[in-house]
Amino acid sequence: MTEYHNQDTDFRNWCKENQNGFYLNEKSPREFMFHGAQCDHVGVLDPESSPTKKRKICFSSRAEFEQWHSQRGADVNVVFCTRRICSPLPHDV
Ligand SMILES: [Zn+2]
Repeated sequence: MTEYHNQDTDFRNWCKENQNGFYLNEKSPREFMFHGAQCDHVGVLDPESSPTKKRKICFSSRAEFEQWHSQRGADVNVVFCTRRICSPLPHDV
């Protein structure tokens, strides 16, 4: 698990290097949206944007996310991105 906050270059590199990974976009300390690493939802591909103004929590695998979620799940609300690129959607979490 890796966190990026105000580290856009590092986050973009992570997305390129972990295309089968997942990340959480921190909308607030208890509100997260779950994306596949290839999702450009948060402006990963837009050079004018600063995606890590909001903290990103990155997982190299689904299992790693599930471990985090099992520890934090009671405290946080995770919403799943519905973009097709984020599929297969992990609706069973
Ligand atoms: Zn997404």
